[in-house]
Amino acid sequence: MTQIRELQAPTLPRSLWAATAVAPKRFDALEDDIATEVAVVGGGFTGLSTALHLSERGIDVAVIEAAEPGWGASGRNGGQVIPGLKYDPDELEAMFGADLGGRMAKAAGEAPDVVFDIVARYGLDCEADRRGWIQAAFGRKSLETLTRRARQWQARGVAARALDGAEATRLIGGKGYVGGWADPRGGGLQPLSYARELARVAAGNGARIFAATPATKLSRSAKGWRVETPGGSVTAATVILATNGYTDALWPGLERSVIPVYSFQIATVPLSENLRRTVLPEGHVVSDSRRLLRYFRLDSHGRLLMGGRSPFTDRPTFEDGRTLKGWIEEMFPQLGDVEMEYVWSGRVAVTADHLPHLNALAPGVYAALGFNGRGVAMTTQMGRILADLASGTPAEELPFPVTSVQPIRFHGFYRPVLEGLVRYYRLRDRWEAAKTA
Ligand SMILES: Cc1cc2nc3c(=O)[nH]c(=O)nc-3n(C[C@H](O)[C@H](O)[C@H](O)COP(=O)(O)OP(=O)(O)OC[C@H]3O[C@@H](n4cnc5c(N)ncnc54)[C@H](O)[C@@H]3O)c2cc1C
Repeated sequence: MTQIRELQAPTLPRSLWAATAVAPKRFDALEDDIATEVAVVGGGFTGLSTALHLSERGIDVAVIEAAEPGWGASGRNGGQVIPGLKYDPDELEAMFGADLGGRMAKAAGEAPDVVFDIVARYGLDCEADRRGWIQAAFGRKSLETLTRRARQWQARGVAARALDGAEATRLIGGKGYVGGWADPRGGGLQPLSYARELARVAAGNGARIFAATPATKLSRSAKGWRVETPGGSVTAATVILATNGYTDALWPGLERSVIPVYSFQIATVPLSENLRRTVLPEGHVVSDSRRLLRYFRLDSHGRLLMGGRSPFTDRPTFEDGRTLKGWIEEMFPQLGDVEMEYVWSGRVAVTADHLPHLNALAPGVYAALGFNGRGVAMTTQMGRILADLASGTPAEELPFPVTSVQPIRFHGFYRPVLEGLVRYYRLRDRWEAAKTA
């Protein structure tokens, strides 16, 4: 029986990360009825960080993952460890008040510290490299926004610096940007290795992790909640749903509170030593200010990764990747007709307010989702916040508002709406670039 279910569990798609990650620790499917203090559904960064932080406090926790740890966006992303949220610190304070807004900005700004601290404390083998994140401006208007952003973080003690066009071009080693800002809090890692390593150390602390175990039903029980799976069940006082872009119908309405959007990437073959020195010479990871953003970095073997919004598919082809290859040719002409080695994609969850949501669904049931494509650091931080919540910290003391779930109106029509928005954003990006040229 176990074997059949494991064969049916979704397999990890081919990607650079799947090909180069540390070997996974083996986790079996759940084959029993078990009880625990906290049950976590979803074995991405959010669920695994929650489990790690709970296990560090000696709280009994079980993670139920439909495929394997890191199977979702966590094992497929750009591996860019990015501080902050879509909104700048001043905006968060204006939106949520000085106290809560200030705590949100602080928590999001410090999120990379949580990642790199876990990596250092446990000695995680995940190619972590903290040499800063650049947000590059492709037009004059966005340069003003990014310069303001750098100033706001400087005012909060961060050694952020605004970049003019010459400095951005030098640090990127490529064309197309008129400036930006550099933030030393950011960096890069191998995301699938990070997920596997989080699972390994959480399990080492006593967390129970089950792979190939989809949660199929969640209902009240005498002892709190019961999560049913094909091979057994988990009873727990507290349940945390950490399913982000892969959220299904397990909790009514939750799926409709986010829009699943695909993002995809290509990786080139490793560049020669000479060429490698010309691209991102100081080791930054980069995303830009386009509404349809581009993000890029080198991996630790000198491959150039380029990412952007994807067609609606979990298995993009090299033909799909040609758009991203075109961006590489345009931005890094010194690379010539460089060969693509990998193309892959994954789902991010976008929210209507562009902020991650920490939802209280019922007494003892919480969800954290909607990381809007910027979740490597923020999910890890959110795991810590969820662990606080599950171990009794009052909601009002957390650095994030705990809200009820808000399904998006007309959610059923999201695909045509999204396709329209993509066309509109593409035009706006072109217009801003044309005005700058
Ligand atoms: C191509 C791409 C590039 C990205 N690049 C970056 C980047 O460079 N920097 C950055 O900060 N962010 C990036 N992101 C976003 C980031 O990867 C996500 O925000 C983050 O990984 C979300 O983590 P998560 O744990 O919440 O969700 P996921 O990692 O998606 O995990 C959710 C898990 O839930 C499981 N699941 C769902 N339903 C069930 C169920 N019923 N029972 C059991 N298990 C279930 C799924 O199998 C899945 O493994 C990128 C995303 C993509 C797709």
